[in-house]
Amino acid sequence: MASDGRAARVAIVGSGPAGLTAALYCARAELKPVVLAGIPPGGQLLITTDVENFPGFPEGIQGPELVERMRRQAERFGAEFVDDNVTRVDFAGRPFRLETGTRGAFRADAVIVTTGANARWLGLPSEARLRGHGVSACATCDGFFFKGSELAVVGGGDSAMEEALFLTNFATKVTIIHRRDRFRASRIMQQRATTHPKIAIRLETEVEEVLGAEKVEGLRLRHARTRAPSELKVGGLFVAIGHDPATEVFRGSLELDAKGYLRLHDQTRTSVDGVFGAGDVSDHRYRQAVSAAGAGCMAAIDAERWLAERPAPPAGSASPK
Ligand code: NAP
Repeated sequence: MASDGRAARVAIVGSGPAGLTAALYCARAELKPVVLAGIPPGGQLLITTDVENFPGFPEGIQGPELVERMRRQAERFGAEFVDDNVTRVDFAGRPFRLETGTRGAFRADAVIVTTGANARWLGLPSEARLRGHGVSACATCDGFFFKGSELAVVGGGDSAMEEALFLTNFATKVTIIHRRDRFRASRIMQQRATTHPKIAIRLETEVEEVLGAEKVEGLRLRHARTRAPSELKVGGLFVAIGHDPATEVFRGSLELDAKGYLRLHDQTRTSVDGVFGAGDVSDHRYRQAVSAAGAGCMAAIDAERWLAERPAPPAGSASPK
């Protein structure tokens, strides 16, 4: 890489709940972490309105406020934030090197990767406009707000089945809308969903528009083959068409699984000794702010112990090992 860069004991890449919790723990361990926070910093909670399942907030809290508070808490103990994206990494030797878009390069003795994953969206303007007002990508997070409503879930994989089944706890009826004539989901999940008395199925159907001015009131649909239009009256749309882990910059440097998620062993360790991972970047099962925060804590403790076996070089030394 071009520049040798600024040195840190530990660099944290990402600033959702996993990264911010890792930053808090590393800061309190006096490791002076540098958080390469990404643009925009804050992760998926930035596009989340009411968070009612993060312990400690009995009245609930807005997603952006929750990440802002976590960040202030980490800063209070000395975490430094750099609001920029990491564009390139070199994990071939220590110290590790990370380049940012505009804020130069950083060297770090240990790295914690917490870049998260992004929910896939259909890409409709009406879907973006009503996100947080009836359009959601997380039934566990938002299902509770839809007691007594009729809902739709779009997708044909295990997530769509799981979201639909979960939503039957609140909704009077859930319609699964899938673009093809068969589901991708595992047989058992399909069977559970398709035989559930509250679940209806619309195959070979695409969502053309989410209807409603202030909140979701319905969907304009079309048949995938015949293009015949139809409308479905629902109070909420759950988009369950998969997630994309934010691992592109690590491809070739860290081991990823077939779907691009960071592969971990011994809880938080990546394929490179001294590089740790936590949160949705390596977790397609739980995907919760609180589970990501817990994983961030674990990665920080593991990184701290790993670093303790590799003391910092004396000040002024050119190349920390
Ligand atoms: P997935 O298996 O990739 O399924 C995504 C679904 O969304 C597919 O049915 C796909 O349609 C559809 N889709 C994708 N883009 C679309 C678009 N633009 N418009 C409309 N539909 C679109 O993703 P997932 O369901 O999130 O599952 C991810 C992984 O986690 C899988 O390995 C899954 O088995 C696992 N998982 C397991 C469980 C469980 O076992 N309890 C629960 C959740 C997830 P096509 O079928 O036409 O491609």
